[in-house]
Amino acid sequence: MYFVNAPFFLRWLYPKVTFNRTRKEKKVYLTFDDGPIPEITPFILDTLEKYQIKATFFCVGENIEKNRTIFDRIVAQGHRIGNHTYNHLRGWDHDDDVYLENIEKCQQLTKSDLFRPPYARAKKSQLAKLAQEYEIIYWDVLSGDFDQTISPQKCFQNVERHCKNGSIIVFHDNIKAIDRLSYALPKTITFLHENGYTFATL
Ligand SMILES: [Zn+2]
Repeated sequence: MYFVNAPFFLRWLYPKVTFNRTRKEKKVYLTFDDGPIPEITPFILDTLEKYQIKATFFCVGENIEKNRTIFDRIVAQGHRIGNHTYNHLRGWDHDDDVYLENIEKCQQLTKSDLFRPPYARAKKSQLAKLAQEYEIIYWDVLSGDFDQTISPQKCFQNVERHCKNGSIIVFHDNIKAIDRLSYALPKTITFLHENGYTFATL
């Protein structure tokens, strides 16, 4: 199960984690997790280019190595990169040294000061160590694009209903998300533009 909003208990458990930016400005932050992959990342880049928007990509190290050209295009287009581990590891399943080593391996490629834990699952001890080196980014709006039981329309509504000033919105460049993302991303951008929001990188 997952929550569209970051639940209160999570905010309490991980005080050092970023869930949103300032609520005082009408800015939002699109983020894309798990890529780059040829099946969907180029579509995302084309869409962002068309609307002249910058976003943040939390990349998986092994996908960067497999898809170097796409990764280079993300960087060349002026988007920001974040570290999402080398093998998309779930922190809860690994000892701290194994988990941190995997993040360091990804860091050789991402060279970023942003980190997002895959599945939002990392131990408190891991987050404490990572917080010394990275800003740890969660979100306050989860589109649910990875959820194959929801419609593309519902995915868009998740964003439409929950987005506000300073929101960090999660989409995925992941095969499971393609049907929902390809519908919801352009709709989201149009909706937020019409409502006076601007887009920024983290
Ligand atoms: Zn992920």
